[in-house]
Amino acid sequence: MALLEKKGKKEGFFLMVEGGRIDHVAHANDPAGTIGDTFAFDNAVKVALDYAKKDKDTLVVVVADHETGGLTIGAGGEDVKADITLLSRLTKTAEFMGKQIKADGSNIDAVFAQYAGINDLSAAERTGIQSASKKALAVANVISARAGIKFASTGHTGVTVPVMAVGDKEHEFTGLLDNTEIPKIIAEAMDLDLN
Ligand SMILES: [Zn+2]
Repeated sequence: MALLEKKGKKEGFFLMVEGGRIDHVAHANDPAGTIGDTFAFDNAVKVALDYAKKDKDTLVVVVADHETGGLTIGAGGEDVKADITLLSRLTKTAEFMGKQIKADGSNIDAVFAQYAGINDLSAAERTGIQSASKKALAVANVISARAGIKFASTGHTGVTVPVMAVGDKEHEFTGLLDNTEIPKIIAEAMDLDLN
């Protein structure tokens, strides 16, 4: 920020930061990864907001280019609530846990106990993970099922994404916007002539 500020003393500057790992972990349907990287993204947004507060002439726009995974919270029926306590006990991603599992599957229970606080795997869960070719995804699916959450896809979805803005022209980021409108509003805020 300090370097950009110095370089753009007269004209100002444009900075785009992507929290790209959220997409990766959502493709992997990884509960701990999705939560952890969303927190990391939140921390990055805070840096931008703190800067804007100090600078008083900065527009901060937070938006996604698409949704990934189609995460449902409280999946499995009307009475199913997400188990936040279980999710808060996760200390490693499913990707990490999958890599810890030995080829003979002898330590599956130990891995779940150590990194997910789950001490009562069923025989079906254990054999499901053992026989899976994609260990990380199998681990992730067991955790999600127990936590009452569910991913609809390992790909991108067509769900609309939120856009949030603070600063000049913030009021224009309302309603249903086509994605092509966003750079136009930013250009307007920067007094750039796109023609
Ligand atoms: Zn993606």
